[in-house]
Amino acid sequence: MQAFTTLPERVPVLIAGGGPVGLTLAALLAEQGIASLTIEADDAYCVGSRAICMSRRSQEILGWVGADKPLAEKGLSWTGGRSYFRHEEVLHFEMPSDPLQRYAPMVNIQQFYVEQYAHRALQRHGDLAQVAWSSRVGDVRDLGDAVDVAIETASGPRTVRADWVVACDGGRSTVRELLKLHFHGMQYEGRYVIVDIEQDTQRPVERLAWFDPPSNPGSTILMHRQPDNVWRIDYQIADDEDADEAIKPENVLPRVQSHLDMIGETAPWKPLWISIYNAKCLTLDSYRHGRVLFAGDAGHLVPIFGVRGLNSGLDDAGNLAWKLAWVLRGAAPESLLDTYSQERVHATRQNIEYGAKSTEFMAPPDYGFRLLRDATLRLARVDASVNELINPRQSSPITYAGSQLNQPDGAPSTGNAAAPGQPAPEALLERDGKPVHLTSLFGRGFVALVNGTTSGLAALQALQDKTRGAASPFEVVTLGQGGYADPHGQARKHYGAQPGTVYLIRPDGYVMGRWADAGAAASALAAAAPFYA
Ligand SMILES: Cc1cc2nc3c(=O)[nH]c(=O)nc-3n(C[C@H](O)[C@H](O)[C@H](O)COP(=O)(O)OP(=O)(O)OC[C@H]3O[C@@H](n4cnc5c(N)ncnc54)[C@H](O)[C@@H]3O)c2cc1C
Repeated sequence: MQAFTTLPERVPVLIAGGGPVGLTLAALLAEQGIASLTIEADDAYCVGSRAICMSRRSQEILGWVGADKPLAEKGLSWTGGRSYFRHEEVLHFEMPSDPLQRYAPMVNIQQFYVEQYAHRALQRHGDLAQVAWSSRVGDVRDLGDAVDVAIETASGPRTVRADWVVACDGGRSTVRELLKLHFHGMQYEGRYVIVDIEQDTQRPVERLAWFDPPSNPGSTILMHRQPDNVWRIDYQIADDEDADEAIKPENVLPRVQSHLDMIGETAPWKPLWISIYNAKCLTLDSYRHGRVLFAGDAGHLVPIFGVRGLNSGLDDAGNLAWKLAWVLRGAAPESLLDTYSQERVHATRQNIEYGAKSTEFMAPPDYGFRLLRDATLRLARVDASVNELINPRQSSPITYAGSQLNQPDGAPSTGNAAAPGQPAPEALLERDGKPVHLTSLFGRGFVALVNGTTSGLAALQALQDKTRGAASPFEVVTLGQGGYADPHGQARKHYGAQPGTVYLIRPDGYVMGRWADAGAAASALAAAAPFYA
């Protein structure tokens, strides 16, 4: 990618790091009409094998910037997987999925493609989202009402003043170091070799796991297909193995060959990438420090088992983009950004909890864990009721329990329907005979989902008219006559059938509140969230 020579002197948002999270954040901000400058140390997208499994939620977020289509075209979608203990299959799991859904539960794709699609998405906005490649953030000075960022570029040092800086500069974040902030948490001893190989295969796309396989006794092996005839193979090495030795081709290739032989993959193959990994459960305590915010690996490192790394980073970007946009427009106080930190630190802690469980199952940290794990796997051969224990729960969006943005529940009688703080469920609706996924309306402004006619609806409709054509329009989705049809009953199922109920859904697709009628919703919106004032 070409280096940038003239940097602007001042920008609303400076993003340190143009990895997948930084580039996606820049594209999301541009969708909201907010200008940003991304500073990226490298001159190209990442190389090698990193994140490969993109969750349904990540596809939805990438969809807000139009990057979902190339992802779906190139990626390999999957819905389930199999686990084996020694020779025997002990688990066949399926993730919730139905043909009416907009996205597959998971899509396998190399991380550099995600970066490419996010980059293309931001390029649609011209100068609104600029990326300076081959440039490095060297210093950050928070002045209180702005931040000065010193940047090393190919043509010498530059300083750019930004209203807000978002550190998306990865696990070894320079910004985190400059601010003298420290991760808290722990890291596991167990190490995994990560190998990408190119090999033609006819196997279905599934998550495949082997515990103590005859091909590599004592080890755990994970396999995922990726586009371009690539297999990603992760295998655990013994505690006493030397890491440098373990990644030497002469030690890696025989292990891979032995496993391919065992599973009957006989086509010729070649290695593409070899690295080593160990699981970490680390986070900052806050993702807001004055005018500097943290997103993605710069703010947290979670185990890759359960694929919560990049997926949670994209969720950070989805949460932050609209809040930054509202604050920069002067339509919300800066404290809205504190809710970003509260919600996403909470999400990280949950992700760490789930990720730690997966890691302990994949690579038991001690003899006791291993004994228990193997006993469970042995039992799973004969008793399907233990499947729950060995199901490798994959990444899913986290409920923001206790968020300050959640409104007091104005329609608790709606039973099991989505409640404040929860990710808004998908519903395939119909308008003028055409299918419309509810989630396709997220990502820009607030959405009011109204069940039938209700008193006070006019106030919401007036807001819709007032914001039509704005970067963050307010959208009223009325179910019933003259509005959207619910032909599959999904809206009734997920949002309750009570006539008159109004849901207010945030731009990032989270339920902010629900009320028994539109009048109550409109006054609550005006009082608690004057975002459209
Ligand atoms: C082996 C491996 C396997 C993984 N598998 C998965 C998976 O299956 N699923 C999943 O969800 N996640 C997975 N992850 C995690 C995933 O790769 C990361 O969570 C993801 O890359 C985080 O994206 P990011 O944009 O926050 O950081 P990064 O991808 O690290 O990007 C940070 C960017 O900042 C740039 N940078 C750094 N310092 C500076 C500076 N001073 N100035 C300017 N730029 C700078 C870097 O060049 C880089 O481009 C895996 C990670 C590894 C290592």
